[in-house]
Amino acid sequence: MYDKSLPFEATIKWIKKETRDTASYAVKINDREMQKIYSFKPGQFNMLYFPGVGEAAISISSGPSDHDLIHTVRVAGDVTTTLSKLNSGDVIGLRGPFGKGWPMEETETRDLMIIAGGAGIAPLRSVIRHIFTSRKGCTNRVIIFYGAKTPKDIIFRDEFPHYRDLFQVFLTVDKADPEEYWRGHIGLVTSFMGKVSYDSLNITAFVCGPEIMMRSATRELLSKGVPREKIFLSMERNMNCGMGICGHCFFGPKFVCKDGPVFRFTDVEEFLEIKEV
Ligand SMILES: Cc1cc2nc3c(=O)[nH]c(=O)nc-3n(C[C@H](O)[C@H](O)[C@H](O)COP(=O)(O)OP(=O)(O)OC[C@H]3O[C@@H](n4cnc5c(N)ncnc54)[C@H](O)[C@@H]3O)c2cc1C
Repeated sequence: MYDKSLPFEATIKWIKKETRDTASYAVKINDREMQKIYSFKPGQFNMLYFPGVGEAAISISSGPSDHDLIHTVRVAGDVTTTLSKLNSGDVIGLRGPFGKGWPMEETETRDLMIIAGGAGIAPLRSVIRHIFTSRKGCTNRVIIFYGAKTPKDIIFRDEFPHYRDLFQVFLTVDKADPEEYWRGHIGLVTSFMGKVSYDSLNITAFVCGPEIMMRSATRELLSKGVPREKIFLSMERNMNCGMGICGHCFFGPKFVCKDGPVFRFTDVEEFLEIKEV
């Protein structure tokens, strides 16, 4: 094991612009020994570190068996702006992986419903890639609901046609773009969910997105009879250490960094209805 309080160096291999404010960064860990021992599970995150600027928690958006280690980042503040100005060949600092990922074992004998809003698709892409590339952990039905503000805000847009070979994919936007013909659904993810039939008792649901969307998606799932203990949410809180020390990311009595970011709904439902607990 290595010391996760210390960053290691990684070099940007390529950058792919996903939307106007979001890009994916594939990195290669510089140290050969670290390359061999570094591994992660879908839903885990790294702390991206820039000396003199700061650190930010960023989910790993690639699958564990993908060739490249990828982070998909939306420009928010200092750290993400610094990253957005870098090019292939530049070196960044990484610490991780941190947190508990998605419980893939919960998908082994059950259908999986993935529900994502906005940038919340990033940690769920790791699940999608994992199942798509290996079919490991899930041989059942996989339904993906993903909502973005407009068609231009759909992250990984070019990938969804491929995923349709194995999964049912439902994309929706809040608003169509007048400059572009949009044949898909318009409206909230939750309004779309009600139009698709599924075996609710056999569903495991993975949900990530703005908290208001996760609350309404959870309500929709519960109203259809999905067992509450089969719903999992990835939570976001401002965090500093990533290791359960600093206390920045408290979510009720739990640390998002160490007990999460993925939580079973029944473990957090009492805190979910309260804003900024
Ligand atoms: C487990 C986890 C995984 C994440 N994965 C990704 C990812 O894959 N891609 C991505 O783009 N972002 C992700 N984020 C969010 C990212 O960590 C924040 O946006 C981070 O603050 C960006 O750093 P910054 O220095 O650029 O912006 P900052 O200067 O830190 O923040 C900019 C603004 O966002 C607010 N803010 C910061 N963090 C949060 C937060 N967690 N929730 C709500 N508001 C916040 C600040 O108060 C400030 O107003 C993740 C966060 C967590 C906790």
